[in-house]
Amino acid sequence: MTRARLLVGIMVLGLTVAGVAAQRGPGIPPTGTIKNVRDNLYVIPGQGSNTTVFVTSTGVVLVDTKLANNGEPILKQVRSVTDKPVTMIINTHTHPDHNGSNDYFKTGGAKVEIVTHENTAKWVAANPRSNPAMTPDRTFADRTTLGKDKDRIDLYYFGAGHTNGDAFVVFPSVRAMCVGDLMAWNMAPLIDPATGGSVIALPDTLEKAVKGIRNVDLVIEGHGNVNTWAGFRAYAEFNRALLTAAKGALSRGETPEQALTALTKDTKFAVFLREQLLPELEYGGTPKSRALINLNVAFQELKGEPVTTNFGPPRGGGAPGRGRGAAPAPGSGPAPAPVPPAPDK
Ligand SMILES: [Zn+2]
Repeated sequence: MTRARLLVGIMVLGLTVAGVAAQRGPGIPPTGTIKNVRDNLYVIPGQGSNTTVFVTSTGVVLVDTKLANNGEPILKQVRSVTDKPVTMIINTHTHPDHNGSNDYFKTGGAKVEIVTHENTAKWVAANPRSNPAMTPDRTFADRTTLGKDKDRIDLYYFGAGHTNGDAFVVFPSVRAMCVGDLMAWNMAPLIDPATGGSVIALPDTLEKAVKGIRNVDLVIEGHGNVNTWAGFRAYAEFNRALLTAAKGALSRGETPEQALTALTKDTKFAVFLREQLLPELEYGGTPKSRALINLNVAFQELKGEPVTTNFGPPRGGGAPGRGRGAAPAPGSGPAPAPVPPAPDK
């Protein structure tokens, strides 16, 4: 089983707790050391999603809890900066690398409130592998505010993207926000059509966030980076350009590879189209190969076909719908590529 396929299993099928623990491979880095983002806001990398830690006057709020069986390492990192109890978990979306260790913080009847977007609650309820600690105690539709003054958190929902339940979590006092997997590793995001994700909806959602969210300058991605507001704006622009390139190529009878070539001509998008494998990227591929995947997804969505290319272009041809027996298109290959072992940190 390639590491890429393993992650497909973890993220989409939601392996059992034991299964995830057993298959925790060398390609998924361990829970890392807590890093200060700004003031009372921290991030813990590794083992799936970033876990964001917001220390309020009354307790600790976590955004996302990584894969299963990481509660203890997460708490150990939290304890290095505060003795306050964990009182709330916000899950940015339904994937089990973001809510997998909720249960650790709920054991023994601990009063920890779980908060998600209302669509994420539906996906959690629909997934037979969910455990009760993934079920939210509180949901929101378009916008809500938790806490006040320095402890205030604003939650926003602007539409589908990675799934159709992706929350933006804003901490106004420290001018920072979490964006879940709407943005991860600063590259075209994975799209999960099984939970309502959409390449067509994504640019609208990101542009609404750019317009609707104010006074943020640090953006914590779902995996990997802490980016800037300017980086987030550029990312929104790139995802719009990707969809525009797909529409243009499709209307001219061209392939997703030709759309990628057109996209590459605008040098301002170079950062999103790099050809290097990024260290610690769990699901493999390069920024460029992920852009090609999303162009394939866009072709399928625009044609009204079921999305089957969100983990790689079809074998034997880059253009979906061309048929699996067709000659390989130039530049298409088996994707995503395997990830090199992560360096120890
Ligand atoms: Zn995800």
